[in-house]
Amino acid sequence: MVAARSEGPGGRARIIVLGKQGSGKGTQAEYLAEVYGVPHVSTGDAFRAAVKAGSELGRLAQSYMDRGDLVPDDIVMGVLREHLFGPGAPEGFILDGVPRTLAQAEALEQMASPRGIDVVVELEVPTAEVLRRLSARRVCTTCGTNYNLAFNPPKAPGRCDVCGGQLVQRDDDTEEAIRRRLELYESSTAPLVSWYRDRGKLVSVDGDGPPEEVAERLVAAIDAARARAT
Ligand code: AMP
Repeated sequence: MVAARSEGPGGRARIIVLGKQGSGKGTQAEYLAEVYGVPHVSTGDAFRAAVKAGSELGRLAQSYMDRGDLVPDDIVMGVLREHLFGPGAPEGFILDGVPRTLAQAEALEQMASPRGIDVVVELEVPTAEVLRRLSARRVCTTCGTNYNLAFNPPKAPGRCDVCGGQLVQRDDDTEEAIRRRLELYESSTAPLVSWYRDRGKLVSVDGDGPPEEVAERLVAAIDAARARAT
């Protein structure tokens, strides 16, 4: 495992993690948040929490999520504006699952100015591998912790290690919704890779392999990119 960076809690790193569903970006983003001492911000987690809480935001987001469709840009950006750029918001963050469209990337660029985003990492994983991972993915209905039956199984079958809650497949991990989300990744999110590359922000990292090895590659690539930028 990689040691936490000197910034410690309250760090300033601003990092975006891009990758297909099932590329491991949630797991890696959580880990990067610890390393760099900044919050892990996942719009998918925010929407799932809103659905569970039965809030207005949850009601708005749920139908899109169940179909595997993207939640409209204005709703997504409203959530980000409130969490990341409102009063008392953190200086640094790891963004996971956002931006997903060019309009979101452009809006984020404006909100994050003048400092902007430090690095955008693209986790590269072949589609056959993400399909294998998604079918083995389980989530705790109580605390939201993620597991994978293939490489990160719970200690007791069907039970969360953290809180003992029940593990289930996500509602949007049906075969049809997965296909739809992968199509949308190709059409809406993959173009962001060249968008960020053109702005000198992108690093690509091989996301295939054991999570600890991917994490080491990620941190090395991010540290190198941040050092180049200073
Ligand atoms: P995720 O956990 O990142 O796979 O997100 C789950 C679902 O939440 C997605 O399939 C979308 O319906 C919705 N969602 C999350 N983030 C975004 C975003 N940035 N833009 C649009 N929809 C999103």
